[in-house]
Amino acid sequence: MIDDILKEVEKYRKIAIQAPDGLKRLAEELAGKLGDAFIFTDPCYGACDIKDREAKELGAEVLIHLGHRDFGLEHCIPVLFYPYYYDIYVKDKDIERISEAIGDNAFSICFSINFERVAHKIASALESTGKKTSSMQCVLGCSFPSIEGMVLYIGDGSFHPLGIALKSSVLAFDPLTAELKEMSAEGKALDRKRRGNLLGVLSAERIGILVSTKRGQQRMKEAIEMKKMLENKGKKAEIFVMDRIEESSLTGYNVEAYVNTACPRIALDDEFEKPIVNYTDLVDIERKMRDEQM
Ligand code: SF4
Repeated sequence: MIDDILKEVEKYRKIAIQAPDGLKRLAEELAGKLGDAFIFTDPCYGACDIKDREAKELGAEVLIHLGHRDFGLEHCIPVLFYPYYYDIYVKDKDIERISEAIGDNAFSICFSINFERVAHKIASALESTGKKTSSMQCVLGCSFPSIEGMVLYIGDGSFHPLGIALKSSVLAFDPLTAELKEMSAEGKALDRKRRGNLLGVLSAERIGILVSTKRGQQRMKEAIEMKKMLENKGKKAEIFVMDRIEESSLTGYNVEAYVNTACPRIALDDEFEKPIVNYTDLVDIERKMRDEQM
């Protein structure tokens, strides 16, 4: 991978590198071989968070973004995406555990991009034990596929398997730790948390609408529409803008609950003292109410 990158960027003089936590060493190794290069150290969770503007301001001619796949944002300098593919050997005993947990159920496989190769290996190993996968799907960015029946999720982290578990039965296998987990209890707990937060936001009088300046997460237009919607319901709503959405940045403001328009993981994964929901949940409720009135 490093050789391919070096070849592709040889025409550029100054180079910026951005990488998620797991690829810091790779970024460092790359910078060492490139010469005139620098590394952004801010946390980077997806291709929604591209630092091309900052890189340009610092004189870089190109930005190398490691670990994620491009999902089509416009950039002010060339951005080269290099998704990272784990190549992990999955032991026979782990395949047996997965196979037993699947039992006789029909199942589909979902995987995050970094585990694509491992997912295909697991699918063929399961096939050799007589199990047949109904479909294989890569889960990208903020989306959760809606799949009938059982889903075997292959990847690390809980955001995607939990999101899928809101609608399907999910078995999650993390090839990095060999942990195999049934997600329905956590899916139900997340659903309870989400509903509780929804009630908290709906009953609040003063609401903060959160907007991130990260390029692929910036939804100011939706925030303005949400403000109007909440004010039409007699609530007081203000828009708060920040780069990284953190409750500590909101200390001191007189609001009782938050509506998040940035990364949907924030309302699902992060712990906030005040109720927080994703704006899409409120939009869904509003749409349902309108449909019922028709
Ligand atoms: S889930 Fe969050 S971090 Fe991932 S692509 Fe979506 S906005 Fe970005």
